[in-house]
Amino acid sequence: MNKLKALEELKNKVLEDISLPLRESNLVFGEGSPDAQVMFIGEAPGFYEDREGRPFVGQAGKLLNKLVEEIGWQREEVYITNIVKRRPPANRDPLPEEIEAYDPYLKTQIEILNSKIIAPLGRFAMNYFLPYAKISKDQGQVFWWRGKLIYPLYHPAAALRSTAVLENLKKSFRELPRLVKDFDKLLAEREYTDITLPSGPEVPEINQSKLF
Ligand code: URA
Repeated sequence: MNKLKALEELKNKVLEDISLPLRESNLVFGEGSPDAQVMFIGEAPGFYEDREGRPFVGQAGKLLNKLVEEIGWQREEVYITNIVKRRPPANRDPLPEEIEAYDPYLKTQIEILNSKIIAPLGRFAMNYFLPYAKISKDQGQVFWWRGKLIYPLYHPAAALRSTAVLENLKKSFRELPRLVKDFDKLLAEREYTDITLPSGPEVPEINQSKLF
């Protein structure tokens, strides 16, 4: 089955799953190229995303588009989604049980996309892959998970509130084309093979591979 069709089928499964939380909000499944080399994963949709049924279309999304364009890419050639696929009331943080409920769908979405690089945006998305990571320390660092490069970045909303965060985010974004280009080399040279998902044992600090 081709990726587009598989994604469409997955989206329908999410729509039909009445056990999922936050069903009073609209589904924001994700969008972008099914052949994207980079998958950006945010936290959960906000007001504008809920209204449009599309991820990152508010102020944070505008900044994300700008960052993508500044490195010479188009939004349409990457893939953008969230760990929780419906808006929590009043934009509160997603609850652990909400993250858990959407988790099988996110995992399948990641499998279908099979992009080389996953860039979690912000603490929540980063901690989904790296439960013990700290955003200020670990953003812009390279981790590995199931043969994919995990590259945590600051959330664009945080960059809208702080010039220092914005500068760091821009700096980390500028590394993305090189990470895509050198992916095979980095994969071959990686110092360890895997990290574990949140349900697994603690991720040792030594699993971090410094880029700089
Ligand atoms: N913030 C997120 O984490 N995701 C969106 O889709 C929009 C804002």
